[in-house]
Amino acid sequence: MAKGKDKKLSDRLFFNLKSCWEETDEKTEKEVEALALDYKQFLDRGKTERECIDAVCELLEKEGFRNIDAMNNQAFKPGMKVYRNIRGKSALAAVIGKKPAAEGCNILGAHIDSPRLDLKQRPLYEDSDLALFDTHYYGGIKKYQWTTIPLSMHGVFINEDGKKTAIRIGEEPGDPVFTVTDLLPHLAKEQMEKKASVAVEGEDLDILAGSRPYKDPDNDEKEKVKLAILDLLNKKYGVTEKSFASAEIEFVPAFKASDVGLDRSLIGAYGHDDRCCAFPALKAITALSRNKTAPEKTLVLYLSDKEETGSAGNTGARSLNFENFLAMLCENETQLRLCFSRSSMLSADVNAAFDPTYASVFDNKNAAFIGKGIVLEKYTGSGGKYGASDANAEFCAKVQAILDRNKIQWQCGELGKVDKGGGGTIALYAANLGMDVLDCGVPVLSMHSPFEVISKIDLFTTYRGYMAFLTEI
Ligand code: MN
Ligand code: MN
Repeated sequence: MAKGKDKKLSDRLFFNLKSCWEETDEKTEKEVEALALDYKQFLDRGKTERECIDAVCELLEKEGFRNIDAMNNQAFKPGMKVYRNIRGKSALAAVIGKKPAAEGCNILGAHIDSPRLDLKQRPLYEDSDLALFDTHYYGGIKKYQWTTIPLSMHGVFINEDGKKTAIRIGEEPGDPVFTVTDLLPHLAKEQMEKKASVAVEGEDLDILAGSRPYKDPDNDEKEKVKLAILDLLNKKYGVTEKSFASAEIEFVPAFKASDVGLDRSLIGAYGHDDRCCAFPALKAITALSRNKTAPEKTLVLYLSDKEETGSAGNTGARSLNFENFLAMLCENETQLRLCFSRSSMLSADVNAAFDPTYASVFDNKNAAFIGKGIVLEKYTGSGGKYGASDANAEFCAKVQAILDRNKIQWQCGELGKVDKGGGGTIALYAANLGMDVLDCGVPVLSMHSPFEVISKIDLFTTYRGYMAFLTEI
């Protein structure tokens, strides 16, 4: 391609992007495919925050990261790798740099919770010879999307002695699955005239659990189907109806991550938001942790829970978990505060991809597009940037320059037209600590639906972007 002043004036001055696929050679396409395959397995393995953190910590251990809570205040040396598991639902990891943490860390922060259906505390009931589970949905969903699809059951029961029993039903071949029923169109005249937000209401998201009554002629219990279900659960897991009151049981789509499209350029799956950023972030930090020499600055990975419900709670990004972990890497309080103000973070989270079917809600000059690379979202929020973390121009430019230097295509991404809605990420909690932070991740189609879609090339570009950021910021 012609350079400098030989280029057409418009080529030099305009900011126009092509699909990243146009630039890929055979070797790159192989790398793209390998990362996608690894990612699909990661998705299928960890469909809930607990399963995902199990998978993450297992990988970290394999890569030589040591559990910081088992280390007895041992001094950190450059190149050391540590991690912390927060209640099995959130995790932090670090590769200790040559410079002290007080000089600032290079941080990637993503979340690993996704919208789903949680069981209530007294979920099981029987009606008309059917056993049903009553749910309370988690995160922002379009409720009608969660009916008539196969669901799998995940979570934990804790018995009186504190013994934990993990449940995972509907993921293995031959497993039964679950579903929320919907009304047949023949009788749905009234339902179809309702607004989409109430056509299926939250209280209607009840899950079919069984229909076979308990067989015992001497038992005059009225709820025999419910009894049979409890009997099954009791025999297999030792639980009773009361066990649900403390349990965390989550229903998520039972289908596996799959390639989408004849050209296999896309991946459809449950839970891309935000595992399609958590995964490349994890891969980037583990890849860099294998370098022979320690990084200049300490590299940190933060995987938080509860983002989809506002990051509150003791595993969410508004808790002190993040600060506590950084405190463990610093010598004293002053050093910690210096670490906050000198650190640089990418809030690794997804953005809405422009959808031509729903073009009217997007500003197509500022929206992110499938296949056009990692998205830099300078600000989030809604209305007049309310609740936004708005990254500083200096920091944005620095990140953009790093990506440009490494020939990593990036694009802008504003979530929809002004006043059409909005959203937030964990960026503002890091920004509150005085860090530089920018939202940066993969564009997603059908976000928050049971089957979200991303591009393999965007996943790959994001991975490369995170690598470059950790190394060069
Ligand atoms: Mn997200
Ligand atoms: Mn989300």
